[in-house]
Amino acid sequence: MEKLPNEVKNTLGTLQGKGFQAFVVGGCVRDILIKRTPEDWDIATNATPEEIQKLFPQNFYENKFFTVTIQTESSDPTLQDIEITTFRSDAKYGDRRHPEKVEYAKTIEEDLSRRDFTMNAIALTLKGDLIDPFEGQKDLKKKIIRAVGIPEERFQEDALRMMRAVRFSATLGFGLEKDTLKAIQENAALLKEISQERIRDELVKILMAPRAVEGLETLRETGLLQYILPELLEGYGVTQNKHHIYTVWEHNLYSLQYAVKMNWPLDVRLASFLHDIAKPRVKQGEGADSTFYGHEVVGTKVTSQILSRLKFSNKDIEKVATLVRYHMFYYNVDEVSDASVRRLVRNVGVEYVEDLLKLRMADRIGSGVPKAEPYKLRHFRYLLEKVALDPLSPKMLQINGNDLMKLGDIPAGPAIGQVLDVLLSEILEDPAKNTKKYLEPRVKELLLLKKEELEKLSVKARHDREQVETRRDEMTKQKYWVT
Ligand code: ATP
Ligand code: MG
Repeated sequence: MEKLPNEVKNTLGTLQGKGFQAFVVGGCVRDILIKRTPEDWDIATNATPEEIQKLFPQNFYENKFFTVTIQTESSDPTLQDIEITTFRSDAKYGDRRHPEKVEYAKTIEEDLSRRDFTMNAIALTLKGDLIDPFEGQKDLKKKIIRAVGIPEERFQEDALRMMRAVRFSATLGFGLEKDTLKAIQENAALLKEISQERIRDELVKILMAPRAVEGLETLRETGLLQYILPELLEGYGVTQNKHHIYTVWEHNLYSLQYAVKMNWPLDVRLASFLHDIAKPRVKQGEGADSTFYGHEVVGTKVTSQILSRLKFSNKDIEKVATLVRYHMFYYNVDEVSDASVRRLVRNVGVEYVEDLLKLRMADRIGSGVPKAEPYKLRHFRYLLEKVALDPLSPKMLQINGNDLMKLGDIPAGPAIGQVLDVLLSEILEDPAKNTKKYLEPRVKELLLLKKEELEKLSVKARHDREQVETRRDEMTKQKYWVT
């Protein structure tokens, strides 16, 4: 048996020292048994919340479901809060969401029997003994998710458990036991009664799992998906035109697959399987010549609707919708102008451009093409940086045309621009000179020159500036390996 962290041992020890029973329970026992690192630690005890609070002065208790959270001094974030829950039995689930009445249970076995799956219903003592009345260890070995007790009843008590089953299959790579699977298929519609927030939390965990795609596939096969993301199902079996080998559904999932493989964050994952969400709605014609005009515009709206319904934050909604809106951006090395790249950046927002590129890569790989077009993407990055650099212009000077007119007591005219050109080339040579202290006397000197001399100097200055610009561009090109 793996060693328990000291904080957990101490907590068990303190409870036992006062004559209470105490066990490590739930996901952390499961994780220890399959050699994963637990993300949080739960302890079950026969001490009441009041008794727990007395023993651990550093606690908070919201008076809900008998769980007292205690704080430790650990530097490991997963050990800073430990949840201690009094043995309980969640008797009746009238509305399939919340236990009607939470009652104390007398024994650890009774407490374990209210838990969702056999692998989550194992208790561990300080001495290292396992209490496993539902043979969770056997299911862990077989990599099977099996409901504790009669699956039907357990899902009718709390319908979210059906999604939890799929989530564990996606995070752990386990299969669903036959009767458990059947009960989910038969009771999927009960998910309608679950709050969107709880559904979202499980969906996010599925999307962040290494087997996110299999998770979505299982959600569809079990019938759960139609109560979570019915819009996604619209693409099932919808064929595309000659540019695509996959159906819309397949393409959405393959795009997500790449985002998962690259370990990209949640918003990119969302965008990667939602970017073509509206294709089925705008499809015109059939076969090789069918079209999907405007799918990114309709898709923006549908994406916002989906994510609002699932109570994602406004920031997430705005970002994912923006990525969907611009995922079709046109880019060809020789055809796209600086101005069009500038416009794209303005529309998408500088902070999202990098993720838009990720979405483009996921989209391409997800269509079954072998490469994400590395050269094209490098060239696009180069142009992005190029347009982001400040242009070399007299605006960079610590002095302007009006100052010049005042200093020289002269009216507007070609001399003003010429002096500015000369000053600019001088500060490009030596940026330290860009101060009023240097520039003002220099202006007076230049204005004393003969007309032809100033003109000659300014022509040379403009030529120098162009050279600096070319050199800078060369360096940016080298940085991105483009020519
Ligand atoms: P993880 O923390 O890795 O997401 P977990 O199994 O620890 O997974 P939690 O939501 O932290 O899941 O719950 C802790 C334990 O509480 C579970 O292992 C399970 O025993 C029990 N549990 C949680 N939610 C439910 C539920 N809806 N129905 C029955 N038991 C549940
Ligand atoms: Mg947990």
